[in-house]
Amino acid sequence: MGKIICRIHGDSGLSLVCSHLRSSVLAGSPVGEYQKWECYVGNSSMPQLCCSQCLDRLYAAGLPPSGFVCNSDEDDEMLERIFETVGGQAEPVCNRCLTSAIGAQV
Ligand SMILES: [Zn+2]
Ligand SMILES: [Zn+2]
Repeated sequence: MGKIICRIHGDSGLSLVCSHLRSSVLAGSPVGEYQKWECYVGNSSMPQLCCSQCLDRLYAAGLPPSGFVCNSDEDDEMLERIFETVGGQAEPVCNRCLTSAIGAQV
């Protein structure tokens, strides 16, 4: 899992979220509704959180509901195409800020 420098928490773990969740987290406002899907890379998985509108669009663009398995460059490109179709890449936020915004451990 990557690292991020948070203006509140300093050196912190990183979580990937959609731009909508990210703006709520950065604004310090609570996030009411969110959905989680997994991106599996090798033996590890990276949870990604997004709002239900974004998740619907990701599924419509071809994201498998069971999560995305990324084992090759082609998989990588496919995921990029899905995000391009949806019009927004998952963006990094501090996972401690995210935890307090959603009121739960991710
Ligand atoms: Zn969203
Ligand atoms: Zn933080």
